[in-house]
Amino acid sequence: MAEDSARQAPANVVARVKALRDEINHNSYLYYALDAPAISDGAFDSLMRELRELEEQYPALIDPTSPTQRVGGYVGEQFAPVRHASRMYSLDDAMGIDELNVWLDRIEETLGTLPPLCCELKIDGSSIALTYTEGALMQAATRGDGNEGEDITVNIRTVRDVPLKLRDEALPTIRDLATPCELRGEVYMPKKSFNALNEAAEAQGKQGFANPRNAAAGSVRQKDPSVTAGRDLSTFMYAIADQRMLLLEGQYELLQWLKRAGFHVNPDVKLCHTKDEVRAFCDDSLKRRQDLAYDIDGVVVKVNSFALQESLGFTARAPRWAIAFKFPPEEKATLLEDITVQVGRTGVLTPVAELEPVSVAGSTVSRATLHNEDEVHRKDVRVGDTVIVRKAGDVIPEVLGPVLSLRPENAPVWHMPAHCPSCGSPVTREEGEVAYRCVAIDCPAQASERLIHWASRGALDIEGMGEEIIGRLHEQGRLHDVADFYTLTFEELAALDTGRRNKDDQPIRLGKTVAAKLVDAIDASRTRSFARVLFGLGIRHVGKTMAEQIAAAYPSIEGLQAATLDELAQVEGVGEKIARSIEVFLSTPDNIHVIEKLREAGVTLADEAPAHALGGEELPLSGKTFVLTGSLVESGMTRDEATAKLKALGAKVTSSVSAKTSYVVAGEAPGSKYDKAISLGVPVLDEAALLHLLDTGEVPH
Ligand code: NAD
Repeated sequence: MAEDSARQAPANVVARVKALRDEINHNSYLYYALDAPAISDGAFDSLMRELRELEEQYPALIDPTSPTQRVGGYVGEQFAPVRHASRMYSLDDAMGIDELNVWLDRIEETLGTLPPLCCELKIDGSSIALTYTEGALMQAATRGDGNEGEDITVNIRTVRDVPLKLRDEALPTIRDLATPCELRGEVYMPKKSFNALNEAAEAQGKQGFANPRNAAAGSVRQKDPSVTAGRDLSTFMYAIADQRMLLLEGQYELLQWLKRAGFHVNPDVKLCHTKDEVRAFCDDSLKRRQDLAYDIDGVVVKVNSFALQESLGFTARAPRWAIAFKFPPEEKATLLEDITVQVGRTGVLTPVAELEPVSVAGSTVSRATLHNEDEVHRKDVRVGDTVIVRKAGDVIPEVLGPVLSLRPENAPVWHMPAHCPSCGSPVTREEGEVAYRCVAIDCPAQASERLIHWASRGALDIEGMGEEIIGRLHEQGRLHDVADFYTLTFEELAALDTGRRNKDDQPIRLGKTVAAKLVDAIDASRTRSFARVLFGLGIRHVGKTMAEQIAAAYPSIEGLQAATLDELAQVEGVGEKIARSIEVFLSTPDNIHVIEKLREAGVTLADEAPAHALGGEELPLSGKTFVLTGSLVESGMTRDEATAKLKALGAKVTSSVSAKTSYVVAGEAPGSKYDKAISLGVPVLDEAALLHLLDTGEVPH
């Protein structure tokens, strides 16, 4: 019968299940036995999840040796084995609030009502079991495979917050002092100590630990206890092997008792009576995670009553009465469905990973740049690979690399296409450059990217003029170059077909409200600074800061057009390569034509001359050059804001420190510019001095 249904699983599923089990077992070994994981927990969990889902779909494939059916762990030979008083389980996990809700609903349904729930932080350390007889510590063990752990008594004795004797006031709660009482918890290494340990290892040229959890697990599994003693380890205790040994009713009371007995117990505990309270505790813990001195990877929600826990019981690997709400991991595994190529505004071809959508750190990731062909080869990612994707906070998602053992057979190495995917022209690669380019002047993808860049926030900032609208206008031949924005009329924008259809299958038009806003936004963009115009033109190598620097030296397009190559190269930070790029751009007839059209449209092509240049008063910081480094925490000003304020006082603000720099302003965590200022003897101002300067205009002495 089982064989019959096993046969029903297609061969590719059977193969995938096997490959996943091998990969998971291999990584579990690296993690539990060697304390040296090769992949992140998030990536490991997504492999485990895929396996669990396949086994649920094809139950006949379930096998008691599958990693989904076991407590992950390892019993090494260098330590004596210890049999646990009762099995040490793992925990089932809820990835996100939806899964937590499912568990809460199930508990409520099974018990007929929602019982009080004890919410605790999930400490990202290593499980330990401490056995006390007559109140004295007799033995300490790791979790091992759940039934049997490793004897680490001599090592645990060196951990300062583990009491060698329980406090007297706690003893009367133990039913029988002569019976060994196994108490459980987590041994962990504070983040600070972990960093110090790794720095020290690095200084000696040794390999550090991957994370504080592995550092803690590795430290208690040392052959020489003096090594453990030298590591800064702490514990949080939270469980007992056999609840019947104590005259207590539930988990919350157990935690209070453990404290009375002399253990270190985590203070962030809440006895919750509603689902909302549980969700709020999870939310709040996630927010405070960064501020804690130790790592946590979630919240454990436990049915509080021991009697109810007993009635709910256990599965093969975890209790039914508890769930680990896991924080959104920053790394996950997903399928690389395709590698497409995007053509940028300067013709650079960028490979893009098209991923099976996956939720990472709370947002869905379906695409990630692979930068260039060399990078694709360096990472060795191929279409069809299971890849690890990373996204931390607001950071752009990144493909870290493939899980090689899960690679389909004959997956071909990826190569940049020989022709531009947009216009079909042959692509080229200049010597010494990593990028392939399409150099066709009329490549539509480049033109469209140039238009998008012009309207973008850092450039002319035409609010509401996004990729989609620009794409439509470009397709319809209404936008060829950036000056065409200024010829768009309210009527034609209002009537623009968005390419979408309503339920009566009629085309949806942009409409009057959006059109009116766009016309205003286009109008407002005429008065942006000359630096933004320079940046918006998309001259190769001229980014935002560079454009500001050039505009500070040449505040008008005429001035810039009249400058010689040598003069341009003298502008701070410019140099010959960029000067040449500016010169080529400004002498290309098509570009000259666009600039003329911009002039006719009334777009800023020259900044207003500063007061002193018009014969007015000298500004207080005229002739002074500033460089900013670090963040301005006291005032909360961004560097852009500080730059604007300094410029308003006549100062020049540049991005690199030289002997000509008058002052370097160093905020918190300043970078290498600070060191350079010190080595060149350039005066350094702190944030207070900067604020004083902006307030009074007085140059410090
Ligand atoms: P788990 O760590 O997710 O959860 C169970 C454990 O949580 C318990 O054994 C206990 O030690 C701990 N815990 C912490 N605070 C607790 C509290 N307040 N109450 C109860 N328990 C608490 O499950 P696991 O089976 O121990 O290990 C799986 C974890 O190990 C996963 O996070 C997985 O990603 C990771 N892992 C990673 C790799 C890798 O290669 N990166 C390999 C294997 C396992």
